[in-house]
Amino acid sequence: MKPGDRYYPKTTEQKLGYLVEECGEVLAAAGKTQRWGFSSVNPELPPEQQETNRDWLLRELQDLKGAIALIETMLLSPPDVSSAVLPPAPPPLTFSQRNRKRCESALGFNHQLGSWTLSDWLTATVGEIGEAANIIKKLNRYRDGIPGNKLSERELKERLAEELGDTAVYLDLICQAAGLDFDTVREAAFQRKSAEIGYKE
Ligand SMILES: [Mg+2]
Repeated sequence: MKPGDRYYPKTTEQKLGYLVEECGEVLAAAGKTQRWGFSSVNPELPPEQQETNRDWLLRELQDLKGAIALIETMLLSPPDVSSAVLPPAPPPLTFSQRNRKRCESALGFNHQLGSWTLSDWLTATVGEIGEAANIIKKLNRYRDGIPGNKLSERELKERLAEELGDTAVYLDLICQAAGLDFDTVREAAFQRKSAEIGYKE
């Protein structure tokens, strides 16, 4: 096997796998040779693939030497970070964790969650939902044929998405400021209402 070959081992794991595989093949060839002798051939192979156990063992020993050389080169050269077996990456942060981190980080808003009261967070949340309401008012103008809009209906819908997104970001922060988890309270509210109206999923 040469560096250009399709299955040429590149990573540490592939090189170790190749070494194990070639060790196994040497064992197979040595075992058959021990049982049947150097000049025996495998009768189950098609004639064009037949070779003596001597040739087979020599071939596998050559391959094993190649696998050993690959591992030796790797072990004796400085660690290659790109091919090393890296520890698994830590699980990604949840949206709420990222939201709070950005809020409080010196590289983000540098704004401690506890430095605002719930009233402050509510004002911010309602401010965003108010911006959404203002856009919906303008969309209603299109619905009702009333003049006065500067943005197209499509642009307004894009702005609505932004404002609803802003609202969701603040809803998450106000939940965290109140010591609650947004996903949990949302799911609990959904299930409470489902039970109330007898709805089954
Ligand atoms: Mg906004």
